[in-house]
Amino acid sequence: MKRFFLALFGLALAVSVTSVQAQFPQPDGGNLESGTLPQHWLSQAPKCMEIPEWQVHEYNPDFYILRQSPCTDYEKPFVFLLFGKERAMLVDTGSRNGDLVPTLERTVKGWLARNGRTSIPLLVVHTHEHSDHIWGDKGIQEMTDPAMPVTLVPAELEATKRLYGITSWPTDTGQVDLGGRVIDVIPIPGHSAVSVAFYDRTTGVLLSGDTMYPGRLYVSDFTSFQQSVERLIRFTEGKPLAHILGNHIEQSSTPFLDYPVGTMYQPNEHELDLSRGALLELDEALVSMHGTPRRMALRDFSVWPSGPESDDAAELAAYKKHVQQERARMWDHTQP
Ligand SMILES: [Zn+2]
Ligand SMILES: [Zn+2]
Repeated sequence: MKRFFLALFGLALAVSVTSVQAQFPQPDGGNLESGTLPQHWLSQAPKCMEIPEWQVHEYNPDFYILRQSPCTDYEKPFVFLLFGKERAMLVDTGSRNGDLVPTLERTVKGWLARNGRTSIPLLVVHTHEHSDHIWGDKGIQEMTDPAMPVTLVPAELEATKRLYGITSWPTDTGQVDLGGRVIDVIPIPGHSAVSVAFYDRTTGVLLSGDTMYPGRLYVSDFTSFQQSVERLIRFTEGKPLAHILGNHIEQSSTPFLDYPVGTMYQPNEHELDLSRGALLELDEALVSMHGTPRRMALRDFSVWPSGPESDDAAELAAYKKHVQQERARMWDHTQP
């Protein structure tokens, strides 16, 4: 009888452990290092001459979000710069025509001055291998500034597994320690073969790459994508999740409405931040497709089971025309 109760107690404990939600005893911010996100990005300005090549936003003194100008590439991706005590880590290097090096050097030097240091090693990693996130690799590899010796790990499977200590891809998680700052690395193939997410235990921020962001979620391998989303949901269960920050904004602030492919000027774009609820909503949408991927618009993002360039000739022609019009308008100061 006693054994029965013990078993029952064990079962109750197991249930309570697996169902525990991310929480703190008081609504006081918990033990996370907090930060702020901007109300608007400068990329929402209507004229190219008013937009810096890279905008630097200080989320907090050890966490920076940089966004590429839409005028150098309509993809206008985000990259992230995190500082630990021993190393800094740059996540992604930007898209075509985005010369990140001068802004990166200035930002790292600002951090060094503020912290009374002369140098810090810089580890450069990637959310995934697509060209709009690795374009700047070459320029960064050629950096010779002794204040920030660079180690760049290419967005390739074996190098990625080795760096984070991931033995079984994609079911294992790995880690990287920047010195008093541990980042968990979760393999999430499906958008691309070598996609990973980063969970920063210090701030509770999840960097989700192109797998989860307010915009078009392009799915190249549906089964892997769904499994990766479900892996992210399981990984974040019971952990404080402050923000999910992805690599792009393509959604407008109007529910279910996006900016078409190629849009540069996005005056009413959606905020970058998503919550864990968005992951649950995405999974629900994927489950409803019963293994047959299809395009589906949700409130804050949409699912696109193909590459960015549609097979539909009319859609492709409209996209190309739109890109030309956008470039003309953003660079022409005579237009309103
Ligand atoms: Zn991508
Ligand atoms: Zn991308």
